Amino acid sequence: MDSIQSGERRRPGRIEVVCGSMFSGKTEELIRRLRRAQFARQKVEIFKPSIDVRYSEADVVSHDRNHIQSTPIDTSASILLLSGDTDVVGIDEAQFFDSGLPDVCNALAYRGVRVIVAGLDMDYKGVPFGPMPALCAIADDVTKVHAVCVRCGALAYVSHRTVDSQRRVLLGETQHYEPLCRECYQKVMQEAKSEEKSAENLVV
Ligand code: ZN
Repeated sequence: MDSIQSGERRRPGRIEVVCGSMFSGKTEELIRRLRRAQFARQKVEIFKPSIDVRYSEADVVSHDRNHIQSTPIDTSASILLLSGDTDVVGIDEAQFFDSGLPDVCNALAYRGVRVIVAGLDMDYKGVPFGPMPALCAIADDVTKVHAVCVRCGALAYVSHRTVDSQRRVLLGETQHYEPLCRECYQKVMQEAKSEEKSAENLVV
């Protein structure tokens, strides 16, 4: 109340993380929170890695084409330089950023900025992705959102890749992934293993 009476805005800094698999609605949730902040007349800046050029150069675009203007950047350090007098900083596709991102988010939060970070929690093999685990650890609040398993309708656990590739990221290739629950993912991996084995037997 003191800050309001003295004519200053109260600016409590915090870090919120929205994580989940592909098709889980992470970006939609990020956009929802940012829009609410905009309605509250707060200054909002949105950043995304320049590697993510799926639909457009300068928009955070979710799969339902609900979009909001953003700035593509190469390194997390640029966020500190570009966020100036911002109340709320949104960061999308955070899994693609460098390991400096958690420190950047902390620095912003201590500056009084509300930081909202959205990203993939795991890659297609179920391995924690880039700076996401560290961000979840230092966050004030973590929201895990879920897609629906395409095989049984349960809550999905992982974004399973349906094509054979060892590359960690297939950008712009969302049709090559399917959300699976833990049980269906396990079945699919076991089937793939037994197929590999029978193929080996054929060669011998
Ligand atoms: Zn399932």
